Amino acid sequence: MDERSKADRTDPRPDLPGAVRVRFAPSPTGYLHIGGARTALFNWLFAARNGGRFILRIEDTDFSRKVEDSTRQITSTMRWLGLQWDEGPATGGPVGPYFQSERLDLYRRAADELKAKGAAYECYCTPEELTQRREEARRLGQAPRYDGRCRRLTDDDRRRLAAEGRRPVLRLKTPTEGQTVVEDLIRGTVVFDNTILDDFVLMKSDGGPTYNFACVVDDHGMRMTHVIRADEHLSNTPKQIIIYRAFGWDVPAFAHVPMILAPDRSKLSKRHGATSVEEFQEAGYLPEAIVNYLVFLGWSPEGGEEVLSADELRRRFSLDRVSKNAAIYDINKLTWMNGHYIRTIDLDRLTDLALPFLARAGLVGDPVDPATRGFIKAILAALRDRVKTLGELPDATVYFFRDDYGFDPKGVQKHLTSPDAAGLLDTARAELAGLARFDLESCEAAYRGLIERLGIKGGALIHPTRVAITGRTNGPGLFDVMTLLGRERTLGRMERAAAVIRAGGPWPEPVALETPVVPGVDASRRV
Ligand code: GLU
Repeated sequence: MDERSKADRTDPRPDLPGAVRVRFAPSPTGYLHIGGARTALFNWLFAARNGGRFILRIEDTDFSRKVEDSTRQITSTMRWLGLQWDEGPATGGPVGPYFQSERLDLYRRAADELKAKGAAYECYCTPEELTQRREEARRLGQAPRYDGRCRRLTDDDRRRLAAEGRRPVLRLKTPTEGQTVVEDLIRGTVVFDNTILDDFVLMKSDGGPTYNFACVVDDHGMRMTHVIRADEHLSNTPKQIIIYRAFGWDVPAFAHVPMILAPDRSKLSKRHGATSVEEFQEAGYLPEAIVNYLVFLGWSPEGGEEVLSADELRRRFSLDRVSKNAAIYDINKLTWMNGHYIRTIDLDRLTDLALPFLARAGLVGDPVDPATRGFIKAILAALRDRVKTLGELPDATVYFFRDDYGFDPKGVQKHLTSPDAAGLLDTARAELAGLARFDLESCEAAYRGLIERLGIKGGALIHPTRVAITGRTNGPGLFDVMTLLGRERTLGRMERAAAVIRAGGPWPEPVALETPVVPGVDASRRV
């Protein structure tokens, strides 16, 4: 079903902005996992497509420490990806607070409401007693479920148990028969037998809510129309529906997005390489590439395109094109996509993105002056086709910034050891020195003429020159490199190389630059 029509059927709330309201509700565990980022993205896109609101809620009731750092980490990474929320931390909104830890009163009041209705009850069984009973049930081959014994306590019983120092939990009276049906916008109709549920806990003995309870109180209180979240929560959904019904509240629409599996179809973990957005950010992946890659983890456009801008995604994303099947995580595909964006984004933006990577490697200052910025921009224009991540840039551009760039021994061996090489470099140098203008066309014409005159193959001159002036055998077009370096540096380097050839070495070692590497990326696929 098209979610536009679905959304239209949801009662718009005149007192709140946006007929469609969705949320991303991360627990502050430290960083933004690829799966979490994908959930956030789907919600953000769904809100945009339906003219709705995207809400960020931090589910921090079980995370007393580290919450602030971790929230900052998640919010800054979301902003970096461009997934700005309409309501939530920092932005505020009409149904805050947006941290669950600041909503404890609301959960307590909701718990009292259910108790007053007789839909929930206090249970005084201790964790030890419960464990013992679970073990007993297991031994008898029965399902280890809470047996509901505290449902029948009298006021006197409760007073007596409290006097023993027991602190109660609050349990929901769940239906003991029948079925709970989840009409999922992605998974379709999923039926759960109520007999598999026991009277689960809503409020813990420390007075805090459980995930399912807080989630329902908040999704209702924050007026969510749709709950779009990871597939792993599907088994929580019947419990949540039963809670909504106990209150007599409307149930939102649910959409469970497919799991993300490793290429070998096992559960995605650290051993499969980088799994947090931050790792990719550090290694020089572009937010637009990550967004584009993430959306394809489960969704596909009608036209089958592989690259879509965020604006286009906001117009075209729909839940009915999200697959039920698990998505396969492929870092090399993401790396390919990153290369695509590096090749095609606006050159000024690429320059802005590249600057911190070059500065961190010590190749340029921070900030750079306009001339250096122009120089970097020109280098990137010549070289952007040859890198897949910004993290590769320091190594790929070092010889533009430093004269002590060092020489690849294999390149030297192949192109700078023949007895003719030094003479050839001298001849070419004289030719270049005599040019009226040192630009791309003139350099190229000079080399073509020389190659013809000497009756040699192009490579016999071009390769030694490249190794002499860059220290390596690959890179942008030779004449691009020459003009970027300028006449003086090009000729100086050719002269220096000829001298080292004559002296029989030594050749400086390549300089070691710190290049961030992403765990899991097949380095051999680098250009
Ligand atoms: N805090 C939960 C999580 O991070 C949210 C689940 C939900 O969206 O309901 O998995």
